[in-house]
Amino acid sequence: RRPRRGPGRQFADHPEVAAMAKKRATIAELYDRFDMPNPVFLLRESANDTVIRWQGRELVNFGAYNYLGLSNHPKVVQAAKDALDTYGASASASRIVAGEIPLYAELEQRLAGMYDVADALVTTSGYLTNAGVIGFLLRDGDVAICDSLIHRSVVSGVQWSGARQLTFRHNDPESLRSVLRMARANFDRALVVIEGHYSMDGTIGKLPEIAAVAREFDCAVMVDEAHSLGVFGANGRGVREHFGLPGDAVDIWMGTLSKALGSCGGFVAGDSDLIGAMKVAAPGVAMLSGGPAPSTIGAALAALDILDMEPQRLTRLWSNTEFFRSLLVERDLDLGVSEGTPIFPVMVPQEFRAGFVSARLLQQGIYTGAITAPAVPVGSERLRFFLTSEHTTDQLRRTADELAEAVRVAEALPAVNGIG
Ligand code: PMP
Repeated sequence: RRPRRGPGRQFADHPEVAAMAKKRATIAELYDRFDMPNPVFLLRESANDTVIRWQGRELVNFGAYNYLGLSNHPKVVQAAKDALDTYGASASASRIVAGEIPLYAELEQRLAGMYDVADALVTTSGYLTNAGVIGFLLRDGDVAICDSLIHRSVVSGVQWSGARQLTFRHNDPESLRSVLRMARANFDRALVVIEGHYSMDGTIGKLPEIAAVAREFDCAVMVDEAHSLGVFGANGRGVREHFGLPGDAVDIWMGTLSKALGSCGGFVAGDSDLIGAMKVAAPGVAMLSGGPAPSTIGAALAALDILDMEPQRLTRLWSNTEFFRSLLVERDLDLGVSEGTPIFPVMVPQEFRAGFVSARLLQQGIYTGAITAPAVPVGSERLRFFLTSEHTTDQLRRTADELAEAVRVAEALPAVNGIG
């Protein structure tokens, strides 16, 4: 018989609700017991710069994917204010009805030009872009074949679409080939989805090789540039520029405005009929959802200008990355499978130990989060550091020292049952 749960208690025994409530309490209790600050949902009182304010203290910050320091760049902030002054705080309508403003088309043309494709579409969220675009493109009878480390937003899209999802080994074209050899004939349309830069591991998507295999088997290709735009390529134009590929090497270029571009929102770029259809018919992407806040588009346009006008930011991002890597390698820290990109996983297996390192760094005035399950598999817990162009060598050197010490202390701690 169905149990009666009572008003306000309908989800109390939902497996995730119950598990998360218990986990939150356990984590809070542990930090209390060790008399350490709880770094989860750290309440920042300033912009997400290389130094942030927290409880009146200053922390060196590695938690922000503000790769080029643009989210608080004066010109980006000013452009957001200008758009706010001209167009107001909200689009106050979906674009097709009364929401359209010239800034959208301006950014879409810039993005289409960058990818050498016919058209682009900007949206309110990167997550919803993946979910909505894949949800719109695939159907029951189709398949998405995804890298094993693909972002959850892609998985949401496949679920939304009703298509099947298959997975190939991370960044392994031969694994993709064997999946396609076995399964391609069973499906109508097939979409291979990878990322340009994997956000938990700091690896670079092997786009040329993977796209070549996909083409052999008559599959479409989609690339998520969330962490590669503004980071890869001589001018920060992402993996297309990095690998020197034509625009039509990929069917759907997807990205976010929320990382290197210092704003908020997402985009897709590709063929004009495809993008045109999404503009009017993809629920949640443009249709049946308010247009992006004008300030976010103004900010992203200014960020693209700065990418051109201040190329030294990209140079500094990569010199900082090389320097930090050499410091961590010297200190024998385990950087997992990372490939020397500005995303540094520092492996500290066991959830409690990873959380301990994060809290201990916080005590030393350094902030970055611990990444634990379900974001990464149990046993591969880690600290994650995002490098930016704006970190100083002093900050990097001090962080490497404190981190090495915190990891040494954490490794000597007994495992804590019930967490990790
Ligand atoms: N794709 C990837 C690979 C991401 O890392 C993220 C955000 N972490 C998203 C999509 C979603 O982007 P947004 O933050 O703009 O919703």
